[in-house]
Amino acid sequence: MNPLPHFVQSPLLRSVRGVYHAFLGKDPVEGRGRRMRLREVFSLPAEAVGTLKQVHSASVLSFDPGDGDVSRGWKREGDALWTDTPGTGVGVHTADCVPILLAHREIPFAAAIHAGWRGLAAGIVEKTVHALAARFGDVAVGGIVAAAGPCARGCCYEVGGETAEALHGLPGGPGYLRRGKAPGKWTADLQGIALAALSNAGIRSVQAEAAGCCTICSPLFHSFRREKSLTARQLGFIYIRD
Ligand SMILES: [Zn+2]
Repeated sequence: MNPLPHFVQSPLLRSVRGVYHAFLGKDPVEGRGRRMRLREVFSLPAEAVGTLKQVHSASVLSFDPGDGDVSRGWKREGDALWTDTPGTGVGVHTADCVPILLAHREIPFAAAIHAGWRGLAAGIVEKTVHALAARFGDVAVGGIVAAAGPCARGCCYEVGGETAEALHGLPGGPGYLRRGKAPGKWTADLQGIALAALSNAGIRSVQAEAAGCCTICSPLFHSFRREKSLTARQLGFIYIRD
């Protein structure tokens, strides 16, 4: 029996019936890719879990079977993906950006958002909720439950003036920025800003929570800042059971 990859779950999302989710961290088994982890650890077929070619945009797409891990597949560009088909899921790959997962308490739909500072500044969170409201009705927003996963947090995430300025202009932004040690530098808590964006999109604060730690100071998660790696990412996914 292979050891499990490190992962965290949101108690709030776990309370939603009919969906299964995890924010996966590092895997102690070398070379065990996403496909094998989904199958061996979660008994999920990788072709049923859609992901996108993430480009720090505010593009929101609905699941297409080609988004799964299929042979000769190519990835569509975008940073948020949702599905309402039982037996399918959606996921995002992150290192220090925020993986945000959403589900509804009554309606079987789920969404995954990749939110870095650019995406947050471009309104990716609000646009995703708007897309769900357009499909399922404005009243559906009241039943959405969300979790913001492991990402770069205020303890470690130092940003320059341009990034700080973009984040400062966002709802809740000023509350999650602190002056850094060096002149012109700031620290930002992306998880807090993501939760503020969910609130700004109409999701009640009791229906959204932070799940997991700062990726920069936790060795259990990949961090672009710490590892300077262009390839290592963790998968955050949510799946609608059949
Ligand atoms: Zn930290």
